[in-house]
Amino acid sequence: MSAAVNAEPLQDRAESLSRRFAEVYGQEPDGVWRAPGRVNLIGEHTDYNNGFVLPFAIDRSALVAVRLRRPDQDPEDEADVVRLASTYGQKGRGLSHARFRTGGLVPGAAEGWGGYPAGVVYALQQRAGVSVPGFDLLLDSTVPVGAGLSSSHAVEVAVIVALNDLLGLGLDRAGMARLTQYAENEFVGAPTGIMDQSASLMGQDGGALFLDCRSLDAENVPLPLADHGLEVLVMDTRVAHSHADGGYSARRSACERGAAALGADSLRDVPADADLSGLDAEVQRRVRHVLGENQRVLAVVEELRRGNVDGIGELLVASHASLRDDFEVSCPELDLAVDAALAAGALGARMTGGGFGGSAIALIRAETENEVRAAVLAAFEDKGWKEPALFTVLPAAGAGRL
Ligand code: ADP
Ligand code: MG
Repeated sequence: MSAAVNAEPLQDRAESLSRRFAEVYGQEPDGVWRAPGRVNLIGEHTDYNNGFVLPFAIDRSALVAVRLRRPDQDPEDEADVVRLASTYGQKGRGLSHARFRTGGLVPGAAEGWGGYPAGVVYALQQRAGVSVPGFDLLLDSTVPVGAGLSSSHAVEVAVIVALNDLLGLGLDRAGMARLTQYAENEFVGAPTGIMDQSASLMGQDGGALFLDCRSLDAENVPLPLADHGLEVLVMDTRVAHSHADGGYSARRSACERGAAALGADSLRDVPADADLSGLDAEVQRRVRHVLGENQRVLAVVEELRRGNVDGIGELLVASHASLRDDFEVSCPELDLAVDAALAAGALGARMTGGGFGGSAIALIRAETENEVRAAVLAAFEDKGWKEPALFTVLPAAGAGRL
């Protein structure tokens, strides 16, 4: 891997993490691994309908320094102890600590953020039959928490790529994606799909991951934003969102009802031009979004394969309109961020993630970044709303050892 993924000074971060690890645990780590967050370019609420998504790994990532316990160097009664420390949420040089034992691990056994690494260990034990020894881990992540960039998956993926290497497990990327999904679903208890981990594991510098959530076929398509003078501005509204929220399960069940009424196992099996007139009005809108969104993902992939990066803006705008009007998962803050960015010259913009808050993205020309930022901030200030967090991202390589 090159010394930096886009703007990320990875070698510097890795070296200072190793030094810090030695201070905290009194020994050198076995290595440092990186796993990026992700942005979903298009394909929203299509994953659980067995449809298409197009996320990309971003140049913000979780780094973990890890050292496995050695029977000859560590006290015997600590052989299965996992000690965790993270720079997250602490001022100055403070660390947030967590701890669990790999022996007899069951969901609920690890508290707080320790649940994510513990979930990965649990998945390896339950699903891959791996006996995982204790280890020490130090985490430092630049993926903002709760902004819809999947900071939790970045942690899980960083842990699994580290353990895969250190224990010589020989797991492939698709296998690691399924294991981290199991960790998040069964241990952490979050009903997430396969998209986020896949992007973090399989992303490529300057590319997006075209993922078929039915077959799990994944293909990289070119997304050379930097070469075209483009970047993606993430606009985190800082309005709380939650998957556990009733809105999410209500959408899922409306999609299931729609598929059943149309005689299909999932909406993926419904033709794009199916007659929806027999469905009740609400289900009809939900289904129309999903069918249209799958087509928009295919259209974006087509444009990108033809090298027409500038040409995807309108499809992003259409996706937002559909999420707002038909799927009804946007909110005033997301709509305002999208509208303000477009008015300031963004090529396209849309909400991203589950909705009801979280982040929107705008595809912008790099030279207009300051203008777009100022316009979005001014629009929020006008309303007297909390200031959104704005930052740019570019497509980056997937997880690996540094
Ligand atoms: P997101 O959309 O960012 O994934 P989640 O609520 O799914 O939001 O995951 C956020 C949780 O992941 C945090 O509350 C914390 O438990 C864990 N997490 C993410 N990044 C870190 C970090 N750098 N250090 C410790 N825990 C982290
Ligand atoms: Mg998450």
